[in-house]
Amino acid sequence: MGDVIGHGVTEEERYGKILEDIEETGQKWNRERIGIYGQAIVANTLLLSKISHRAQVNTLSTQVRKKLKEKVRAFIWKGAGRGMVRWEILMMGEEEGGVGLRDPVCALDAAKIRMLVSLMTKDRQPWMKWIERKLHRVAGRWGVREAMAAKPNRKQIEELKEDCIVESTLKIWFEIGGKGGGKKKEEKKEKGEMREMELSGMGVEEEKEGWTPIERLKTRQIYDRLIKKRMKLKNYEPKKAHKAVHTIQKQLTANERDYWWRLTHRVIQTKTRESHWKKDEKGVSETRECPVCKVEEEGWDHYDYECIGVREMNKRVAERVGRVDMFSRSEWSLEEEGMERGMMLTIAKARWIYHCQRVKMDMGQNRRLNTEILMNRLDRRMTIVAEMI
Ligand SMILES: [Zn+2]
Repeated sequence: MGDVIGHGVTEEERYGKILEDIEETGQKWNRERIGIYGQAIVANTLLLSKISHRAQVNTLSTQVRKKLKEKVRAFIWKGAGRGMVRWEILMMGEEEGGVGLRDPVCALDAAKIRMLVSLMTKDRQPWMKWIERKLHRVAGRWGVREAMAAKPNRKQIEELKEDCIVESTLKIWFEIGGKGGGKKKEEKKEKGEMREMELSGMGVEEEKEGWTPIERLKTRQIYDRLIKKRMKLKNYEPKKAHKAVHTIQKQLTANERDYWWRLTHRVIQTKTRESHWKKDEKGVSETRECPVCKVEEEGWDHYDYECIGVREMNKRVAERVGRVDMFSRSEWSLEEEGMERGMMLTIAKARWIYHCQRVKMDMGQNRRLNTEILMNRLDRRMTIVAEMI
């Protein structure tokens, strides 16, 4: 059983069912094969909404936070072992190499602080005094007049109670860099008339936007600040190939885009990788043998370029675009600088078609690699692209 919080309601009772529900919904969506970009959307909307209402009125313990992140992570990786791409990378925008997944904990914290801010600043009602009283109590402990205007040290911040909604929100407030003081009044245009507006005086110093009063702080800004503070990912550069795919993504299908994201982030399950975690009913590890050539071990390099099957496909595709030599390793991976657009598209589609064939062979649905058929498929796909343009 979890810790007892508030009126005899355990955390297990409060969040257990919700977390189960998140897991179940995630599993249902994963049967639809929606790809990594689709998964990010489902996680950001359907999964997150299941818990957001609760999390705004009840605090989340460290344990629940951890479980929540685990559930979302299991959904993204379909429960297959550990995540193969760092969590922080998934949070980034598509053009930066990520998939725009929202960190559920940061998102909930951002929503919670936004709600408290509204309670404190918008048409303050007498019943909202409780917030003020709590803050004054904290301020008293710190030896200042107003908790929001204080410059607490680390120890004081750590002493704030996790299970108190005001105190835990105050903690986040300091985490995002909220500063006391600042402007007290501001001119605001209302129905064409300039009117002086009373501000809370508490604000955040924005690097670009200057000083933002607390009541103007948007959930998105709070979320971005939390991500910046908590997700420490310095100087991450997406792969060249990822950027290249981004320039042709409009001509790619959802499946092709998903495949290339997995390829450029090395998330493809090669047989060598699979043999590390997959076992059959008898407990025997999955074979490492390449399902296409059935000779060599299918490590990354073998899958990516070296397999005789890949090379055959490579040669056929090169012929198709009028080249004598097969594509170099960096061209075949779209890593080469200044590649021609049509060539990139052809390779992008060809490799997906080949991958599908490899999967079929792995499942025993096809015994032999027939590049003739694959090239016909490629031709059809390229015709569709030509018609699109
Ligand atoms: Zn092979």
